Amino acid sequence: MGMKTGSKKVRSRVLLRDTFTGVERWHENEYPYSEYLWEHGNNSCDCNRFMYFYPDSEEEFPCNVGESRFVIVRWEGEKTE
Ligand SMILES: [Zn+2]
Repeated sequence: MGMKTGSKKVRSRVLLRDTFTGVERWHENEYPYSEYLWEHGNNSCDCNRFMYFYPDSEEEFPCNVGESRFVIVRWEGEKTE
């Protein structure tokens, strides 16, 4: 597949949608996609998804209670168990 950005090796990427604005954006990872991490771990929470979506923002986004504002549309690349 050979997804590469600069010198950083991209092993997976996740398409996130901001449900408030409808805007979608890819977040690239140097590690394989992990269902656990994105559905139950740190990356399941809006506080982190907000940072991935708006990397230049200084805002500390609150953790979601219930439904996430940022949802995964799809992912690509390598996957870990
Ligand atoms: Zn959180």
